[in-house]
Amino acid sequence: MNAIEAENLHYTYSDGTKALKGVTLNVKEGETVVILGANGSGKTTLLLILSCLLLPQKGMLKIMGEIVNKKNADEVRRRVGIVFQNPDDQVIAPTVYDDIAFGLRNLGFDEDVIRKKVDEMLKRFDLEDLKDKNPDYLSGGQKKRVAIAGITIMDPDIMIMDEPTAGLDGKSFRAVLNIIEQFRGEKTLILSTHDIDFAEAVGDRFIYLNDGRVIRESDEVDYQFAEKLGLRCFLKGKVLIIPKDVESPEIKADAVFNEYGLERAILKALEGKTVFLMCENGRIDYIKRFVARFPVYCDVMRG
Ligand code: ADP
Repeated sequence: MNAIEAENLHYTYSDGTKALKGVTLNVKEGETVVILGANGSGKTTLLLILSCLLLPQKGMLKIMGEIVNKKNADEVRRRVGIVFQNPDDQVIAPTVYDDIAFGLRNLGFDEDVIRKKVDEMLKRFDLEDLKDKNPDYLSGGQKKRVAIAGITIMDPDIMIMDEPTAGLDGKSFRAVLNIIEQFRGEKTLILSTHDIDFAEAVGDRFIYLNDGRVIRESDEVDYQFAEKLGLRCFLKGKVLIIPKDVESPEIKADAVFNEYGLERAILKALEGKTVFLMCENGRIDYIKRFVARFPVYCDVMRG
């Protein structure tokens, strides 16, 4: 079953900015989908709509089989949890414990039940030592974990995270990566990022957003495409594809390979080298697609 079905979503802010211009996408239950796009492409707006915090002005949104409208948005919203990009917008209670308990208290749960569940979250997200601390004094990574705990405790079917690794140092980045790994398969996950390496590490499927529109979907990260979109990519060396009928140009290369040496050619390019790859004309598209999965440049030499 699809956890989310969205068709032709439009959203224009009150100052006239058209943030979404007809977004159509489906997300299957249990899938981890990464929304990739440069700043301003509409990722946050889309995630706010998918979590029913904004209603689309045009288009259809179905969450767990239910079409979202003004009347049922509050109820459907409970099935979706969103972790905002900036935890300061989300972590607001006087202590870590109270913050994680916030949602369940709002729903009127018994304090004994709440304690048990909060303790579980403190343990799961390695926050036990911080439970009485004022969240204002936590590091960015710690605050992010509190925000994730506060959403996880509500046990939503769908977990949405807006740029979950933005601004985190190496250690916190790995901690968040680890947490996302734990959610995989257990929850439907939708993440947004402009960090292609992070996307590659966690995603089952990739949806590229540009200027309020989905311009591509794929099961593999495409580094060439991401770079063109303006995403942060550290592309290393270069694979120059030379079709068989093109005379070898007079360009200095560190090595020349044929298709059987494709993987070795990519390894060399990953070391920062420029390599030639000779191939049959009919194989060019396949090779381009294969090379695009690695952070290296790729060009085809034409005669
Ligand atoms: P992203 O998350 O990819 O950076 P956003 O969804 O935040 O993209 O923004 C999409 C577009 O909508 C941008 O042009 C942005 O400036 C604009 N935008 C976002 N929030 C608002 C707002 N509250 N009012 C007006 N324009 C907004």
